[in-house]
Amino acid sequence: MIFALAGNQNSGKTTLFNHMTGSNQHVGNFPGVTVDQKIGAVIGQKDCEVVDLPGIYSLRPYSDEEIVTRNFLLNERPDGIINIIDATNIERNLYLTLQLMTMQIPMVLALNMMDEVRANGGSIDTDKLSEQLGIPVVPISAVKNEGVQELVRVAVQTAQRREKPKVYDFCPAGPVHRCIHSVCHIIEDHAQSSRLPARFAATKFIEGDPIVSELLDLHQNDLDAIEHTIVQMENDCGLDRNAAMADMRYNFIEGVCRACVVKARESREHLRSVAIDRVLTGKYTALPVFGLIMLAIFFLTFNVIGQGLSDLLAMGIDGLARAADRGLTAYGINPVVHSLIIDGVFTGVGGVLSFLPIIVTLFFFLSILEDTGYMARIAFVMDKLLRRIGLSGRSIVPMLIGFGCTVPAVMSTRTLSSERDRKLTILLTPFMSCSAKIPIYGLFIAAFFARHKALVMIALYVFGILVGIVCAKLLNGTAFRGNPVPFVMELPNYRFPSLRSVLQLMWEKAKDFLQRAFTIIFVATIVIWFLQTFDTRLNVVSDQADSLLAAIGAWIAPVLRPLGIGDWRIATALISGFIAKESVVATLQVLLGGAALTSLFSLRAGISFLVFTLLYTPCVAAVSAVRRELGSGLKAAGLVLGQTAVAWLVALIVYQILGLVL
Ligand code: GDP
Ligand code: MG
Repeated sequence: MIFALAGNQNSGKTTLFNHMTGSNQHVGNFPGVTVDQKIGAVIGQKDCEVVDLPGIYSLRPYSDEEIVTRNFLLNERPDGIINIIDATNIERNLYLTLQLMTMQIPMVLALNMMDEVRANGGSIDTDKLSEQLGIPVVPISAVKNEGVQELVRVAVQTAQRREKPKVYDFCPAGPVHRCIHSVCHIIEDHAQSSRLPARFAATKFIEGDPIVSELLDLHQNDLDAIEHTIVQMENDCGLDRNAAMADMRYNFIEGVCRACVVKARESREHLRSVAIDRVLTGKYTALPVFGLIMLAIFFLTFNVIGQGLSDLLAMGIDGLARAADRGLTAYGINPVVHSLIIDGVFTGVGGVLSFLPIIVTLFFFLSILEDTGYMARIAFVMDKLLRRIGLSGRSIVPMLIGFGCTVPAVMSTRTLSSERDRKLTILLTPFMSCSAKIPIYGLFIAAFFARHKALVMIALYVFGILVGIVCAKLLNGTAFRGNPVPFVMELPNYRFPSLRSVLQLMWEKAKDFLQRAFTIIFVATIVIWFLQTFDTRLNVVSDQADSLLAAIGAWIAPVLRPLGIGDWRIATALISGFIAKESVVATLQVLLGGAALTSLFSLRAGISFLVFTLLYTPCVAAVSAVRRELGSGLKAAGLVLGQTAVAWLVALIVYQILGLVL
């Protein structure tokens, strides 16, 4: 049996899904976190699965989320729908419910967030609600795992008995009623043959839904008859067709709520949110506060907590390497193998691993930002600024995710409803410096700017963003002329971050990083070690400069010479960065073989290198994500070349200007 979990954004779908299936999907206090549908087996029920669908407010086919959810319901025909609604906001949430009810699929209403409703003195008569809507209603609190068992039981029962929603007529006799009935009558046969529920098809047709109209494939005289009926209705009730449908649904909802809902007093959470928002989204305070918060996060991550832990870990790894070194020497192991283990694996992978705490700390703070609901405010506050470069506040989400990793960031652009905004955002996310680059920055900053770690780190991030903005401006004036779609997003109440979801995100990031360190980076390190140890005849070289790697690097080095980074070792490090950014550090460590970074870079070259790595092509994984989302290999290749060109140019300018100053 398959259940679809449908509901508004931020209504608690993923929280419920996690409890029902025991899985650990990402929950965020932010509308639009779930883009893909996720499927999981329901605990304690045989052969029973539930699908977490993206949150939507209506069944129109305009944004990707709406299309994913709608197509799932229409094409997969699940055995049951679990419609989860935020009971603190019941009127608006029921709007979707009414549309789902017309789909004629067995359905249960899960009244979520009942804890908040009760805490604020509200109550909902669930029996009466169930009677008026003609579907079972179960009050739950997803975060507290209350009522979830009962919900599963009722859902399974309803699906087994194939109990379809009993109510699908939402208006009293009148022009709207007449219109829906006659349209229903005309399209009935067509709807049946294209497997659409007649009611659903009729209302959607009246609302001018292009997909439904196409599926129905009506004859011209039917179309004329329908158009005539609709115009008649518009004249009779004095509303246009869309307004008439919305009006019908809201009137019905109003009646239901009057009968069943005792309104909670203005919730404490909401009042608190409004008070906090006066500062955090205030006209003059919003941006300074945002700046301060980001500053604090960077300072704590790169100067205090993360850095401290990283130093500790680096010491541990060092100790381990020395012990292994002594052990291998004592055992008299073959010097080449010895070198592989110490100079290859320990130096390369170890050098990358020590940055784990910094990355985890950064994610700790970012997940708190998201979980409290502040991230949604950032989108809101940034909307005005982003509009100037032809983007809307919606685009801030992929960009912020991009600070973690470009792959999910590019995927999350699916929440953007206009194709233009989406493409522009995809092209810009790689300029948001991803967390895999942190080891590179860390290594260089420790060598050149040990006293101003956080400051230089911030400068790098900001610089990446600025270059992104300039590129957006240019693209906006040329290839992407046009206006971003208006930005509408509901600001969720501030919530205390849940420890579980914060820890979970940290663990996921740590796991991901460790996995990469011991797979891609490990292999890359060994390959680099191999190439730098042997020459073309597979003899062990005494001087690195005779190695295979030097021969390869020498090809690229001349291109980088104007940037002051024309050494073959730097060139190879940059190439390995295309596989994974962390391996830039691993490669440099292996090639330096314990020598100081300053032996390879002057301050000026170091800065030029940082700028280049900040801006040059994203890694393979990110490029393939871009290719998938843009649906074109050519465009993805264009991105790689374009970004590398931008990086080259900017690094050149920086290097030449520094030449005048330093
Ligand atoms: P989705 O967007 O529908 O998938 O919603 P999520 O599952 O990501 O949850 C959105 C927010 O609502 C998170 O901050 C949850 O912790 C919170 N939340 C979910 N269920 C409840 C509930 O029953 N009570 C309260 N107070 N908060 C909840
Ligand atoms: Mg979700």
